[in-house]
Amino acid sequence: MKKKKKDRRQFMRDTGLGLLGAGLLHHESVSSCNDYLKNDPPKIKNYRRLGRTGAMVSDIGSGIPSNGSILKAVLESGVNFIETSESYSNGRNEVLIGNVIKNFEREKLFIATKAFPAMKLFKSPDDVLQRAEGSLRRLQTHYIDLYMVHQAQNIFRVKDDYFHKAAEILKKEGKIRFTGLSCHGPEWGPESSENLEDILMAAIDDGRFDVLLLPYNFLAPEMGERILKACNENDIGTMIMKSNPILAYENYASLMESGRELDRTEQKYYEGLLEAMQKADSFFKKYNMNDMEQLKDGSIQFILTNPDVHTICCRFRTFSDIQKYVSLSGTTLDNRIAQIMNDFKDSLGFLNCRIGCNICEKECPHKVPVNTIMRYNYYFHSLGMEKSAMQYYRDMQGERAGNCRDCEGYCEKACPHGVRSRFLLARVHEDLSFDGQDMKS
Ligand code: SF4
Ligand code: SF4
Repeated sequence: MKKKKKDRRQFMRDTGLGLLGAGLLHHESVSSCNDYLKNDPPKIKNYRRLGRTGAMVSDIGSGIPSNGSILKAVLESGVNFIETSESYSNGRNEVLIGNVIKNFEREKLFIATKAFPAMKLFKSPDDVLQRAEGSLRRLQTHYIDLYMVHQAQNIFRVKDDYFHKAAEILKKEGKIRFTGLSCHGPEWGPESSENLEDILMAAIDDGRFDVLLLPYNFLAPEMGERILKACNENDIGTMIMKSNPILAYENYASLMESGRELDRTEQKYYEGLLEAMQKADSFFKKYNMNDMEQLKDGSIQFILTNPDVHTICCRFRTFSDIQKYVSLSGTTLDNRIAQIMNDFKDSLGFLNCRIGCNICEKECPHKVPVNTIMRYNYYFHSLGMEKSAMQYYRDMQGERAGNCRDCEGYCEKACPHGVRSRFLLARVHEDLSFDGQDMKS
């Protein structure tokens, strides 16, 4: 163990990944909204028509802000699109938003929230009506611009009559203006045959949804582009999530840089990870890069370059995040960064499970929902939603990744993208389970 630790530190020194690691440390000198606004921060430059809703929304939208002061600064920067859900922090995110937006002109904002029932099934139209009333109360508003089905994981949920009947009533009463639907991917299950594209295409064909929220990024854009094109042809608004897969890399660079003792999983896969990090080092040297910022910007610009995208839901955790994301408004991807990102996909794409993919899951003898667990990993490490990710992992359908550590890695062998899923899953299990124990057992 000691030898590995020394090798690793030496490796970081020798290769310059330490420099990258240092670049990952975040320095936040601004501590209040007023301080932030004093420094003449960037403003939103581009507003796009959100499909048939006709609303002009900022190309950079607000996902989950970390506190009210951050959200206030986000809105002062010209962001007018706010996305939330009754499920985010058990409704507390809606409360946070309500406390901020009451001091802004309501008509200038576009607010989207989602209904997320237990077991993902509404009990009746009344159930939906009560949920909408709860959101209205927490948001301190008389109307919701966009009321959405949260995380539709199968076509049955697209057609949910309870939701659609309630939506008609809510529209007549002026409590909601439009309806939408979000989908991260299909529900895991031995009989499940639908994929993300099937579900969202069914939502488009259904004709009752005005806006869709979908994952889309440069690592595997083809499916997202087909969905976005179909939305455009049907004048459906589009919101994007899971936009920045670059963030996952930081997690592993930090692990290498930390110098801490490797745990059992890390030790087992250390050699493989070392080899992977050496590849990463060659990548960064080749492009003479010493931080990840250009690539993170490129991930957002890749999405902004697609005219079928209307807004990206960005998670604002710090004032630096506001500076960063808002300054990207109205920009597009340049050819040099596009080339680097393509190379990143080839060199370091093994660290990211592709969104909406479930190709390898049928190969797993333990019925592990690989893609779903990798999504929770993204929440945990890239979005900083540790507690929620652990709760989702505890409550998910299918087996946890406790067997992956000692498995032959059938999923890894089946992955067409070369994702190191066995190592990643074993590590995710350590992170998402309390004390590394399988919470189901
Ligand atoms: S590593 Fe093995 S147990 Fe884990 S998901 Fe892959 S095939 Fe299943
Ligand atoms: S590991 Fe590969 S095959 Fe499996 S879900 Fe992820 S991207 Fe798809």
